[in-house]
Amino acid sequence: MTKRTKLILVAVAAVVLVAGGLVGVGCRPTTHPVKPADLGTARSSKEMIALLDEPGPVTLETLASADWEVPLSGLLNLDHPKAKLAGLVDRPEPIEIYFHAIEHPTRGLFIVDTGVERAFSDDRENAILSGVVADVMNVEALVVRQHLGGWLGAQRQPLAGVLMTHLHADHVTGMRDVPRGTPIYAGPGETSDRHWQNLFVQPVLDRAFAGHEPISEWRFSPDPDGVFAGVLDVFGDGSVFALSTPGHTSGSTSYLVRTTTGPVLLVGDACHTAWGWENGVEPGSFSHDRPGSAQTLAALKQLVSDHPTIQVRLGHQAPQGAAEGERLSASAP
Ligand SMILES: [Zn+2]
Repeated sequence: MTKRTKLILVAVAAVVLVAGGLVGVGCRPTTHPVKPADLGTARSSKEMIALLDEPGPVTLETLASADWEVPLSGLLNLDHPKAKLAGLVDRPEPIEIYFHAIEHPTRGLFIVDTGVERAFSDDRENAILSGVVADVMNVEALVVRQHLGGWLGAQRQPLAGVLMTHLHADHVTGMRDVPRGTPIYAGPGETSDRHWQNLFVQPVLDRAFAGHEPISEWRFSPDPDGVFAGVLDVFGDGSVFALSTPGHTSGSTSYLVRTTTGPVLLVGDACHTAWGWENGVEPGSFSHDRPGSAQTLAALKQLVSDHPTIQVRLGHQAPQGAAEGERLSASAP
């Protein structure tokens, strides 16, 4: 495709997006079927917190699958007084695309989110983000570090399940490397939020999930302590908790993982950036409900401030001051 044709296609895409916004057209992010999750026991946040000081049974490794660059205004609310005071302005911001591997002694190997697929390395023309969508999303700037397919091929056990933080395109970019038949879990409502931008997102997500099992939706019930919208004990043994953390998307889910070396909080895109976490500033235009995402971020930060042994893994950047080894691995020695 010539540069001129690309520019025309991007311009047409922009016009359609704006027109869609004006007339209020909205569609779902994916037409892939859903079913209720067969995992997860409702707990209170106090029950979860009571276990935090005891080491858990699982190991966790965070893998940076790709480097990328996206507008800071999407990642961070630049209208927030703290962002203004710091003089932050919109600019391309370097980020990482992660997946997290959880090894449970009896349940097996699970991943949280999916990183990027092998095709981004081997067959870019046919990668899940290609054509106009890739141009609009600046996929040219995406550099693969470790694709999910290669990593899965090197594991000694099969993948037992995928726990999604949410279903934005940059979190399902490895889904086509996941073996068919693997259970996939996500928060309630992730497939049904209607938005005009989904005119472009839906074909991507539908391709990502094609041939996969229906998405199992977490069955949250309100946290009796009112700290989170819901807390689920994923395996019923206190090793991994799913926290309902709506705002970025309505079904956004964070995971509290009790590893052999202490608790780790996988925040998901409730906070993308190191600066946002340090300063308590919620995500920007990428979020579906900004006030909701500010509330969720405050609850997560409070949890970590009350329990400083919790290691934090953010949506797309390493926390400030985290050493490479410290931030990318919490495995058994
Ligand atoms: Zn993301």
